[in-house]
Amino acid sequence: MPNKTLLYALLNHKCPRCRQGDLFKYSLFEKPLHFTATNKTCPHCQLIFEREPGFFFGAMYVSYALTMGVLLSTAFILYNVFGDPELWVYIVTVPSIVLLLLPVIFRYSRTIYLHGFGGISYNNKYQGSAD
Ligand SMILES: [Zn+2]
Repeated sequence: MPNKTLLYALLNHKCPRCRQGDLFKYSLFEKPLHFTATNKTCPHCQLIFEREPGFFFGAMYVSYALTMGVLLSTAFILYNVFGDPELWVYIVTVPSIVLLLLPVIFRYSRTIYLHGFGGISYNNKYQGSAD
């Protein structure tokens, strides 16, 4: 079985150690309102995801950066593609897009933070055929 890449693990919210177990309990399509439900441990290699109490509070910084990216991109597209519409269009559209993408931003923030600041290295001895 070929090793899973870091990009695969980041895009699919996988465990940083085995890159197979899911970080979140449910898929966004399965239960979109339960988007915050995070597994305590990796279902594949039993790694404890919350490295210390309150570990995921740090994901707020990643979330802030991602939100700013979405916010600025939306404003940029409105300005350049839709020819600088009236102010109320920005006021309605930009927060709506950010709110719609909230579950996605939340999940990528936690995933990026865990992979980047969790202090966990990928170890291919945890690669297996469990899923
Ligand atoms: Zn794992």
